[in-house]
Amino acid sequence: MVENIEKLKDIISSPKNILITSHRNPDGDAIGSSMSLYYFLKKIGHKVSVIMPNSYPDFLQPFTKEKVINFDQNKDKVISILKTVDVIFMLDMNNMSRLADLSIFVEESNAIKILIDHHQEPKLNIANYIFSDPNISSTCELLYKIIDLMQMKKYFDSLIAECIYLGIMTDTGSFKFKSTTAKTHFILSDLINYGADNYKIHELIYDNNSQSRMHLLGYCLNKKLILYPEHNSAIISLTEDELNSFNFKKGDTEGFVNYALSIKGINFVAFIIEKDNVVKLSLRSKGSLCVNKIAKQHFNGGGHTNASGGTSYLSVNETIMDVERIIKTI
Ligand code: 5GP
Ligand code: MN
Repeated sequence: MVENIEKLKDIISSPKNILITSHRNPDGDAIGSSMSLYYFLKKIGHKVSVIMPNSYPDFLQPFTKEKVINFDQNKDKVISILKTVDVIFMLDMNNMSRLADLSIFVEESNAIKILIDHHQEPKLNIANYIFSDPNISSTCELLYKIIDLMQMKKYFDSLIAECIYLGIMTDTGSFKFKSTTAKTHFILSDLINYGADNYKIHELIYDNNSQSRMHLLGYCLNKKLILYPEHNSAIISLTEDELNSFNFKKGDTEGFVNYALSIKGINFVAFIIEKDNVVKLSLRSKGSLCVNKIAKQHFNGGGHTNASGGTSYLSVNETIMDVERIIKTI
């Protein structure tokens, strides 16, 4: 880490053309780390672009101020930007597949590639420098640590602080997951001192629900929650038709899986959702059950010990049966 810190400091010591990217379906940590790094690098004199493989939920828009380019909708523009960049930062991802169709273009670039991530087992052979810490709450917390180690916190301002706060907040489930440490709270306090408006950030993310999202949540809990008490497990599933009937917008089901996990005695939850003819799974656990292993073994996915995701190419009902078989073995 120390050697990489020195190298990174050296790389950013002269003006560069920089691209920042993160995983498909960007979440608060992906957007928070990308935007805080964007503001930081701009402030010290670099030309910076933030590119995401696809769109992100509306509730994250206050943090991007529409500065993020969506590869899905701007392929030519992104490809031409990629031709001119000296450095590519890849954030909050441990596998090139997380960049989806953007991955090939990033792989082909001759730019210096730097990974900053907190997932287990980073598999990014193409990265020249890897900053990886699976024990840290979020990529945002790791980014704070890196900037601190470079002794460059003097460039922090409220914009940078708020974006870092955002990623720590969303990836720790508002500071309640096990990954939240005394150091995390120290950093949050420091970020508030740098001008992060913690109250505003919580409100923007958690008190900004549409009526249809609340109705969809009610439907999920009332009609679509299956409990397996003898296996301390639960499944929630949604088909594309059901989503459409609730006027689904990207991000609407974010956090639904945690409601099932909050039920007394439930230690494992699979949230199964059909989107664009593909079935996505969000797996969550409490305690020592490693859901990333289940995601990797059965659903071509990965993630963290207690929060992971993957894909099924079966129907929703067949995926439910698949998960039921897994539940019986855990
Ligand atoms: P979520 O369930 O919120 O989509 O994702 C939870 C965690 O699992 C995140 O840390 C995310 O990076 C990871 N994850 C979700 N889907 C996939 C996937 O398809 N592949 C991999 N490798 N990780 C995933
Ligand atoms: Mn993250």
